[in-house]
Amino acid sequence: MTQPAASALFNLKTIYAEEAAAASARGQAILAQWPQAQVELVPSHWQIPALAQIPANAEAWAKIKREVLVLGIKKRPEVRVNGRSADYILSGASNGCALACVYCYVARRKGYANPITLFTNTEDALAAQVRHLARLGPKVPNQVDADCHVYEIGENGDLSVDALLTDVPEAMIAHFRLQPGAKATFATKFVNPALLGYDPQGKTRIRFSLMPAHVAKVVDVRTTPMAERIAAINDFVAAGYEVHLNFSPVIIYSGWTQDWAQLFAHLADVLSPAAKAQLAAEIIYLTHNAELHEINLQWHPKAEDLLWTPQWQETKQSQTGGINVRYRHGQKGRLVAELKRLLALHLPECRVRYAF
Ligand code: SF4
Repeated sequence: MTQPAASALFNLKTIYAEEAAAASARGQAILAQWPQAQVELVPSHWQIPALAQIPANAEAWAKIKREVLVLGIKKRPEVRVNGRSADYILSGASNGCALACVYCYVARRKGYANPITLFTNTEDALAAQVRHLARLGPKVPNQVDADCHVYEIGENGDLSVDALLTDVPEAMIAHFRLQPGAKATFATKFVNPALLGYDPQGKTRIRFSLMPAHVAKVVDVRTTPMAERIAAINDFVAAGYEVHLNFSPVIIYSGWTQDWAQLFAHLADVLSPAAKAQLAAEIIYLTHNAELHEINLQWHPKAEDLLWTPQWQETKQSQTGGINVRYRHGQKGRLVAELKRLLALHLPECRVRYAF
């Protein structure tokens, strides 16, 4: 597998940095990779006015992801209960992403731009995880995992992309190797072969995010093409990762069931016996958002033809006050049942961990 250079996704021209992050050893290592970038010190990595508050930035959504990076200190790394993709969420790796999936929920909270913010104090997050694990009793088996307490380490970004810029993902994977009864997990839409050398020893679960390829071409902007993501699964299993599948977001359009059936049948053809033996999946239907819809219309209106389908959707006020859009409640149960039926038919080795 060819190693992607950071230049495949980045041509950094501006790095906004909190002073402590820029001065840290990790920050210095990152800055040294981009000597041509202008460094602007900022009081806080969060809500940098030149990024978040300029409406015209929405038209340059993907360009900003290529040209801008933020370095910060995660003030209070925390562990929160999850119960779906993981038992717990460990914050502190990054926030924001150089990929540009049009439905990305991280972007909903980031105003008019969502480049990567890398946190340089990873060890504080890892210390928080160790303290948290020490308070837990033995794992009670659940849908997340039978044996380990599972920590999501990539909630607000894509660690395979972050690994092009920093050693944070490698440090986190190495950390979890030594955590008895605990395991890390993150979802990804980017194949970075550097991760094959991190020696996770089964203590990191990567969730490759998959959907029909022609839909991904429209909505998964800047990501690794679907065929390459699928082709990487066997290699990641062989390299010591547990690999699960993240069928997400499931988007409804005319002909969607045939496309998913084809995807499942293709996986059945190409996955190795070792990959199938450890396989499980999560299925997550699309949730969209009115504000993000408006931003997307400015830089990628074609994608909104797929995402914004009011004839099948209903609105709901989110906890933060935004208007979220999802498939109608009465219909949703039937949609979930249909996809699970197709998966059981074509790829019976793949257990569904949860679906909603
Ligand atoms: S890979 Fe994840 S975090 Fe990155 S843009 Fe896509 S959905 Fe958002």
